[in-house]
Amino acid sequence: MIRLRLKPGRETSVLRRHPWLFSGAVADREGDGSDGHAEVSDSRGRVLARGIYSPDSQIIARLWTFDGRVPDGALLAERFDAARRSREGFLPPNTTGFRAINSEGDLCPGVLMDIYGEAAVLDLLTGGAERWEADIVSAARASFSAREIVVRRSGQERDRGDRGSETRPHGAPSPEEEPDRGIRPVPFTENGLKFFADVSSGQKTGFFLDQRDNRVRLGALASGRTVLNLFSYTGAFSVAALAGGAVRAVDVDSSGPALDLARDHRRANGLPAAEEDFVRADVFEDLRRRVEARENWDVIVCDPPAFARRRVDVAGAARGYKDVNRLAMMLVRPGGWLLTCSCSGHIGADLFQKIVFSAAVDAGASFSIAARQGAGADHPVSLDCPEGEYLKGLWLCRRS
Ligand code: SAH
Repeated sequence: MIRLRLKPGRETSVLRRHPWLFSGAVADREGDGSDGHAEVSDSRGRVLARGIYSPDSQIIARLWTFDGRVPDGALLAERFDAARRSREGFLPPNTTGFRAINSEGDLCPGVLMDIYGEAAVLDLLTGGAERWEADIVSAARASFSAREIVVRRSGQERDRGDRGSETRPHGAPSPEEEPDRGIRPVPFTENGLKFFADVSSGQKTGFFLDQRDNRVRLGALASGRTVLNLFSYTGAFSVAALAGGAVRAVDVDSSGPALDLARDHRRANGLPAAEEDFVRADVFEDLRRRVEARENWDVIVCDPPAFARRRVDVAGAARGYKDVNRLAMMLVRPGGWLLTCSCSGHIGADLFQKIVFSAAVDAGASFSIAARQGAGADHPVSLDCPEGEYLKGLWLCRRS
């Protein structure tokens, strides 16, 4: 355990139960924190909060309790149980893939867990959370009765781009009986559609569960329309569109393995999978070619990785979002749709809308926002930590 004493006057955010403690607020430390536990006190030594210690992060502690309780296995089990109960009634039918633990939104800062059918994928976001691994895995088993638990360590919160992460299956009940579990795509369903999550090497925990509600919207308006799915990853948007009656859906992504899984997704659902509908390319270059060829699409989905992973990246990211949106907008036919998304936590909803507006100006096109749609109810955001809201989606209808 490590005791972190705050500088005078730096306790305000902790008193407001904000779960992130930045290293700059700490005056001195006592203890080594090797068990991942941190105790936070004000400058006079009064204990204010306890949580996970992360020596290598700017957020030196993620706070779990503010009432004197020492986090332990029982607390984890309670929090996991509460998370499970809070999802009851919120998931659509025929859906076995969902976010089960959403970090701060479930009062489990630093821990993500997604369920895919019989598998649970834990993502431990900080070094400190890894120290709590045994208790976290027990809580996951008890609350969600997953047959298999895979533990990932992304080390970087909410990135959606390529990121290095170590993954290993966690103590499956009997490794001898089930030698390879956890290293192949795991099947699950979403609104009756079949998908696979590449839980060991895929991005995030293997699938973008946070886009479920946008997939539903796309499916509902896709009938008879053509769909261009940019940054498609494993093509989940296209599956929803084709199942909804789209005449054609084209996936564009730079990753070959992602496009392979996109083909499998279509086949598993009995949907057309013509070779020319999977384009391995840089989206920016692909869009320039399509603009030059004066293509027209009924619906375009633009859901890139986080261009701004750090605050210093915001200006460059804004240019990237503007560029990709300008090009995409030029391809949407009047009356058509653009679903444009940003999952960069550092780019707020207002800024994103301004970027998209300036892209429309440059594209010489007029769009109206018909809906704003972020992550679904299985991605709760704590009022104490609004930073947890990262996904912004704008449904734009082209008017002229
Ligand atoms: N829309 C996807 C998730 C996107 S994740 C879904 O709903 O499942 C971001 C994807 O963008 C990744 O698959 C990554 O391979 C791809 N990518 C990142 N930069 C790219 C680029 N410049 N051109 C094409 N694909 C890119």
